[in-house]
Amino acid sequence: MSEQHAMQRESHGAPASVPTDRPVDAATLGTATGVDVARVEAAVREIVAALGGGPTLERTPERVAQAYSEFFAGIGVDPLTHLTDTVAVGPETGELVLQRDIEFRSMCEHHLLPFIGVVHVAYVPGERVVGLGKLARVVETIASRPQLQERLTEEIADALETGLDPRGVLVVVDAQHSCVSARGTRQAASTTVTMASRGELATAAHRAEVMALIGGIA
Ligand SMILES: [Zn+2]
Repeated sequence: MSEQHAMQRESHGAPASVPTDRPVDAATLGTATGVDVARVEAAVREIVAALGGGPTLERTPERVAQAYSEFFAGIGVDPLTHLTDTVAVGPETGELVLQRDIEFRSMCEHHLLPFIGVVHVAYVPGERVVGLGKLARVVETIASRPQLQERLTEEIADALETGLDPRGVLVVVDAQHSCVSARGTRQAASTTVTMASRGELATAAHRAEVMALIGGIA
């Protein structure tokens, strides 16, 4: 069972937040094996030439290629590798795990421009739970690919469902897109919210309960 919603809303400043794991450093994912850095550099050299070039842009192709290897470090990485170190559910586990405000950055595949925001991840454990830091790693891995926010949301939910076999999953992504804020209609304050739910958290009542805990989303 899966449901997805997307809506645009005006930003009301920073959402209510609780301390969560820091975003995963790209270095911990290793060098991107899925990116041909030399080829990106050559392509950017063409772009720079098309823009007229000039001495101040001399090292730009190299810098952009390095940035791309960081942006796309999740290509070819299986997010399920972060969900193998689980522990059996016990009396102390609780009935819901909700990690709010996991910061992420990704690149929209339509424009290759960054979109940046937070992911709220909730699951109702089945037999196993995983360390909270691993949820941020799953998010980081899936975000570090050419993406659409809608697919990012679904893929995080799918990874949790497959990796943890939980009774329910809810993933909410709240992000600001450079391709919306810096070009086109230039809606600098607009953010996009997407949601994916599975199992018990796909029912309206349970979803509303978790959304109330997340807070900060109109
Ligand atoms: Zn875009």
